[in-house]
Amino acid sequence: MLSNSIKMLNKAKNEKYAIPQFNINNLEWAKYILEISQNLKSPVILGVSENAIKYIGGYNTVVNMIKGLIKDLNITVPVSLHLDHGKSVQSCINAINAGFTSVMIDGSKFSLNENINMTNEVIKYAKEYNVSVEAEIENIDDNYDNNSYSKLQDIIEFINKTDINSFAPSIGNAHGIYKNEPKLELNLLKQINENVDIPLVLHGGSGIDDEQIKKVIKLGISKININTQLQVEWSKQVRIFLNKNKNVYDPKEIINSGKDAIQKRVMEYIILFGSNNKY
Ligand SMILES: [Zn+2]
Repeated sequence: MLSNSIKMLNKAKNEKYAIPQFNINNLEWAKYILEISQNLKSPVILGVSENAIKYIGGYNTVVNMIKGLIKDLNITVPVSLHLDHGKSVQSCINAINAGFTSVMIDGSKFSLNENINMTNEVIKYAKEYNVSVEAEIENIDDNYDNNSYSKLQDIIEFINKTDINSFAPSIGNAHGIYKNEPKLELNLLKQINENVDIPLVLHGGSGIDDEQIKKVIKLGISKININTQLQVEWSKQVRIFLNKNKNVYDPKEIINSGKDAIQKRVMEYIILFGSNNKY
């Protein structure tokens, strides 16, 4: 069943594991991820970016596709359908109207005050629909150069002035492929965790080594976003398949040739995050 992410994230925070957010690009990715989550009895968050929503067809198409998969595949673990990096209040409202159960309002490009105002606008709307809201303040780098860190005082002010359900700090994490080995600011994370009650979210989870992942979960990270790594491994497998099978033209076969690569990685992440056997 589709639900918001409040209960699953609070449970994860209390029991010190992390819920995976896997970003989807199409029907197949959603299907592969749901199958493994069900097999491993892991709650899961399906993240969809504004670009992916546009690509798939629109907010309603995404919602109905996921609802259909949950029904047809008999998925019984909790699934949250989450707008990843909603860049405007309107984008979050569109997602909520279509039936998304969770949204992220990303006002990080605006001043702290503007960010607080737009986040509160989203929260007011989301509450009526029982939708959870995630937010961030400092821009999490799109290309890793390791210079963007959240300021503790800003985080505390932001959380005191909003009523968000989860918060994504910048602690040296980044989107995409890391240019250098990422070193997370664990001390900063520790301080944030000591001053903040709500579950914390790690963006850019692809490429962070297992040891650091285990440490950040202990320090209050209750949700980890994975996007790039699944894309890298899917495309690698599909490329090998196409080179080996020059005469194949059935798109079902071509797209599905990356299935095992995605499912293997999803399985490894769920076990690393400790979210298996939780339902
Ligand atoms: Zn992100």
